[in-house]
Amino acid sequence: MRPQKVIVLGATGTIGRRTLDVLNRLQGTDPNWECLGLACGSQVDQMLKQSQKQFPAAKLASMVDDDRCDFCGSDAALHLIEACASPETIVVSAIVGSAGLRPTLRAIELGASIALANKETLVCAGDLVQQALQTSSGTLWPVDSEHAAIAQCLRGVRSEHIKSIVLTASGGPFRDTPLVDLQNVKPHQALKHPVWKMGPRITIDSATMANKAMELVEAHHLFGVTDEQLHAVVHPGSLVHGMVHLQDGTTLMQMAAPDMAGPIRWALTAGQHDTSVGSTLDPLELTHLEFSPVDSSRFPFVDLGFEVIRKGGGAGCVLNAADEVCVQAFLDGRLSYLDVYHRVAEAIDRFGHHSPSTLTDILELDIAVREDVANRFP
Ligand code: NAD
Ligand code: MG
Repeated sequence: MRPQKVIVLGATGTIGRRTLDVLNRLQGTDPNWECLGLACGSQVDQMLKQSQKQFPAAKLASMVDDDRCDFCGSDAALHLIEACASPETIVVSAIVGSAGLRPTLRAIELGASIALANKETLVCAGDLVQQALQTSSGTLWPVDSEHAAIAQCLRGVRSEHIKSIVLTASGGPFRDTPLVDLQNVKPHQALKHPVWKMGPRITIDSATMANKAMELVEAHHLFGVTDEQLHAVVHPGSLVHGMVHLQDGTTLMQMAAPDMAGPIRWALTAGQHDTSVGSTLDPLELTHLEFSPVDSSRFPFVDLGFEVIRKGGGAGCVLNAADEVCVQAFLDGRLSYLDVYHRVAEAIDRFGHHSPSTLTDILELDIAVREDVANRFP
């Protein structure tokens, strides 16, 4: 039986809130759905409101001290997982950044299934995650829309029949902006995504396409494909979320309206398509589906993603840690938009040769990169 006891990490974020909407919907069709726990960063009032309204029995965890929570402090989400995760649970991993890594990995070890929005977990520790999944009773369901789409295309497909995988990208707010104008981009402009409403880090990462770089690494770990089998294309309509080319010339695509409720519901229900959470596309309205190549001179992050896959080892951890620090510096007005890429690429040059093999090694590398990158700001 699929798990119906849910733990939501990052409950107050964009994905976390949408997850609670989806859970509300699922409970309407089957009252066996319940929520055992919620974790957030600092918005405790918002989390309390959510739990009182929908899940009064849920245990609560927050990063900041608050006596209304069952667990507090920087390891609160991990303690929540220790207390609640089991093979009967599904953990929605929707904390932003590498803070999601330890609780997600621990949930896998405890046999829980994972609905993974926190792509950073795979980018930083894809090999460890795959190892942990081999001995876990749980399954990992990607929530990232592209990866959920590709996983849907791949059902029933033998891995040796995969020729290549294509991730689509909306192109973000600067899809058509000339390079000279990118120099002066300000945070408020980069925070305006044309299609998706998301948290600040992934919104900036979508503008620079660091998000697509991380998603290429994520796809490499999830689907066991090489950098040569992976491609990214710009698709402004955001209706096709992923494509798989098979050896015989067949192409499978997954389409849906751009709404994260779809992949969240698919992951929560262990790959079922039985509960409606959105509208159905009308083929008569699909008059043209536009695709164009990624312009590497304006979006060099995508090539960096391929480089990170080729390097392997700790390169993904470096990419994520450096990008997290640089995005925050850009949002704080301490770093220019184009320098986000340059600083991250330089960090990969400096630290990309590290080969962390344990979780402790990865966490140490994460801290070392953060400190090094932050110390170089004026
Ligand atoms: P967000 O900024 O809106 O929310 C982040 C959540 O994490 C918040 O609840 C915050 O309180 C919590 N948090 C931060 N640090 C924490 C910590 N140390 N302990 C506990 N909680 C902590 O971000 P989001 O847009 O919801 O994205 C969440 C994750 O999902 C990211 O990894 C992102 O890449 C991924 N994702 C998001 C979307 C989207 O459409 N928003 C799509 C695909 C993947
Ligand atoms: Mg995505």
